[in-house]
Amino acid sequence: MNFADTVLCQRTFFETGATRALEFRRSQLQKLSTALERHESSLLAALQADLRKSPFEGYATELGLLQAEIRHALKNLSRWAAPVRCRTPWFVAPARGWVQLEPFGVALILGPWNYPVQLLLAPLVSAIAAGNCAVLKPSELAPRTAEAITALVRETFAEKFITVANGGADVAEALLREQFDKIFFTGSTRVGRAVMAAAAQHLTPVTLELGGKCPVIVCADAAVEQAARRIVWGKFMNAGQTCVAPDFVLVQRDVQDAFVAALKKNVLEFYGADASQSTDYGRIVNKRHFERLVNYLRDGKIVHGGEYDVKDLFLAPTILTEVLPESPVMQEEIFGPILPVLTFDQLDDALARLRGRPTPLALYIFTRNRAMEARVLQETRSGGACVNDVVSHMVGTGLPFGGLGESGMGAYHGRAGFDACSHQRSVLRRATWLDTPFRYLPPKISLAGLKRALRVLLGD
Ligand code: NAD
Repeated sequence: MNFADTVLCQRTFFETGATRALEFRRSQLQKLSTALERHESSLLAALQADLRKSPFEGYATELGLLQAEIRHALKNLSRWAAPVRCRTPWFVAPARGWVQLEPFGVALILGPWNYPVQLLLAPLVSAIAAGNCAVLKPSELAPRTAEAITALVRETFAEKFITVANGGADVAEALLREQFDKIFFTGSTRVGRAVMAAAAQHLTPVTLELGGKCPVIVCADAAVEQAARRIVWGKFMNAGQTCVAPDFVLVQRDVQDAFVAALKKNVLEFYGADASQSTDYGRIVNKRHFERLVNYLRDGKIVHGGEYDVKDLFLAPTILTEVLPESPVMQEEIFGPILPVLTFDQLDDALARLRGRPTPLALYIFTRNRAMEARVLQETRSGGACVNDVVSHMVGTGLPFGGLGESGMGAYHGRAGFDACSHQRSVLRRATWLDTPFRYLPPKISLAGLKRALRVLLGD
């Protein structure tokens, strides 16, 4: 496999300067939006075939979010792309300084299988808005969706501008041997490391959107019933296969029983007594992940769910209690519909349990006490956080979305995505009618004089 020609073809097109024109970028974003509408039914059917995602969930969590990203980019593009004036030091006066945001060139976007449309195409919206060409590599684990996206892209864009390469790890590795100008990867921490190592060969800038175990702290003063409802919503959508899904809950002992009862009640309300019959409940992506998840059922007391059917890759929404912190379910990212609930007495204990763990992509705290909230935010680290909610910080275009440490680097959505796909080029333009001799050799003042002068001439 050799993608040298693909990259060369895109770089040649990029170098014509065509993608830099804001009008070009707008028209391509508009084309993407129209294509998403035209291909809506095939994309939703593919999501249903790959992950048993209902059309409601498919639209709410994938296509709807993409359309919002596109609308936002179209509305703000001129502002984002405008040069930003910056101060220049006195010793070059008269001069003007500014930062102009420029496209990197040819971007490689590698996507995962869990939100296979949104997580491949939202970075594409940022890449197009910023004026880049792009090669997309959808996940091979959502094959119908990869096929539907390929059809959409081939019909909508010239290959020299946006193209798709399909396949598994071997294709991704072959792509990574080429010299891209930007790599945008969403997936596991393990593969993220390999992507960064490959990028280092060409010193290509990377954005890494990775995974991790997102903890939830539920304090005794929280609105417990509401907390449970919000957690059930975020945990069991897409059968728990969401990078920002609550991974496990630490609940304060006084409210544990009420909280667990509210979790059960909400699972029943959302998915019925037999979730396998619910049209709103997804399936596990494949047998390997299914078997991994079923093994976790041994790691605690099943207080709700636990039913499974390998033929259908069905695993019921499951709540575990009496889970030991050192058990496997508490070591690895669960990425499935199993929610371990552990208890704590004092906030100190909860925070101590989080200390020393890899930095998660998100952290959630349920409390009505601002001091408690502030303490948790101050004493923990995570890519993003929600207070009294889960998942919602990554919805929409206002808040940058990204990880930290093991959960990734860089951020996107809205303006942050545009910035992630742009180089900040600093430019200083000097006038020619004045040329102070001050800096030229031989020195015209003493060292002490230079020190005094620089304080004035460099400012600040
Ligand atoms: P993955 O890392 O297995 O695969 C992601 C992509 O990398 C796929 O396109 C795959 O083909 C490719 N790939 C696989 N092996 C590779 C290799 N050796 N070299 C280069 N590329 C390779 O991830 P996944 O299983 O598709 O997704 C699940 C993981 O992604 C979870 O850890 C989840 O938390 C994380 N995730 C993170 C976000 C986020 O926004 N931060 C979103 C969704 C998923």
